[in-house]
Amino acid sequence: MSFDIDNPPVEPPADCRHRLLWRLARTLWETHRPDSTSFCMATGTWHPNQREPCQPARLAQEGMRTACGESTPTSPPWLTVTRERLAAGEIDPMDAVAEALWHRRHTHRSGR
Ligand SMILES: [Zn+2]
Repeated sequence: MSFDIDNPPVEPPADCRHRLLWRLARTLWETHRPDSTSFCMATGTWHPNQREPCQPARLAQEGMRTACGESTPTSPPWLTVTRERLAAGEIDPMDAVAEALWHRRHTHRSGR
């Protein structure tokens, strides 16, 4: 893994395959990381009172790992959500272009 799963960078790491997925998961992480001050719908509490990552925080970590090419239990739904967002245009155009360019470079190289 090319990043610290408990302290993931805002920007996708260099080997990130799915930059949009990273941003979706990273946004979820920002809201639910253990030291965040957001209200957690999943646990029904404010985050400073909890030490363990809540369910959405763990989901976010799996999303970021998926973005970097790992296979996790929630990888399929993460990829589906990302594709749907992309299709619906609910993403930053800059990110869409960056991801398209990344894939063009890498699919060309791997011959897929
Ligand atoms: Zn939470």
